[in-house]
Amino acid sequence: MCTTGMIRLSTGGYVLFKNKDFGRSHFDDRVVLERDVFGVCGTTSWAGEDPSLDQFSGFSVGANSSGLLCCDSNVVTLDEHVNYDIMVEVALRQGTDVASAIDAVQEAVAKKPTSWGNMVLIDANSAASIEIRGTQAVAVSLTGANARTNHHVNLGEHDLQEDKITTIPRFDSATKRLRDVKSVDDVFTLLRSHDNGNTGVCNHALHHTVYSYVLVRENNETILHVVQGQPCKNNRVIVRTIPFANSFNAISANRFISEYPSANKNNFGVAV
Ligand SMILES: [Zn+2]
Repeated sequence: MCTTGMIRLSTGGYVLFKNKDFGRSHFDDRVVLERDVFGVCGTTSWAGEDPSLDQFSGFSVGANSSGLLCCDSNVVTLDEHVNYDIMVEVALRQGTDVASAIDAVQEAVAKKPTSWGNMVLIDANSAASIEIRGTQAVAVSLTGANARTNHHVNLGEHDLQEDKITTIPRFDSATKRLRDVKSVDDVFTLLRSHDNGNTGVCNHALHHTVYSYVLVRENNETILHVVQGQPCKNNRVIVRTIPFANSFNAISANRFISEYPSANKNNFGVAV
């Protein structure tokens, strides 16, 4: 279960954020960094207890060199369905902006039933959500600041959705808090918040927040702010510019991977 969202800053930059919530309390990300694409690998086994059984595919959050930012959250994982994380990877590999990413995702989803999820996308000019449900991918334009959790906001709640307990309170809490967000620090205050007893957007019940991500695009640069573990407990935010395009080389890519907070220091992208 995850909380995601986007906001445009008064400085001209724009922000995508995500708390990754997991079935166990510790998780080490795998990341992909290529010349034009950065992605944190997704998992279909997010509720699993045993790290050796983790199954990775697609991206759960990422960015590309065109300035597109994209992430997702689970609604329900279904057998024999394509992982919705694959669609974040499709968006970032084929899209140069929100509109072209929506086209690519809708074309891919129409071909093969996909597990249900919520995608959030933002570029310099527009933002959108895509609600995936089987072969349906419904895109809605987003204005202002928006959050998403683990139910479909536009298609509506459904008996099949996996989280029927925390998704609405987290959505309400994040949506309310976003009204006061003006900076990246404010986004982290939201990601660290506990509005529902001992849990909330920072998740301590049923699932555990294992990473917080804030991607900021400003002045033609994409900056990743990332925390491993529950952000209310770990104040050590790693802030790094993603070395895209002309900044991408063996040294910059290896440095980015080595400084990423994970025990896993392999680059799962193409060899540099
Ligand atoms: Zn917390």
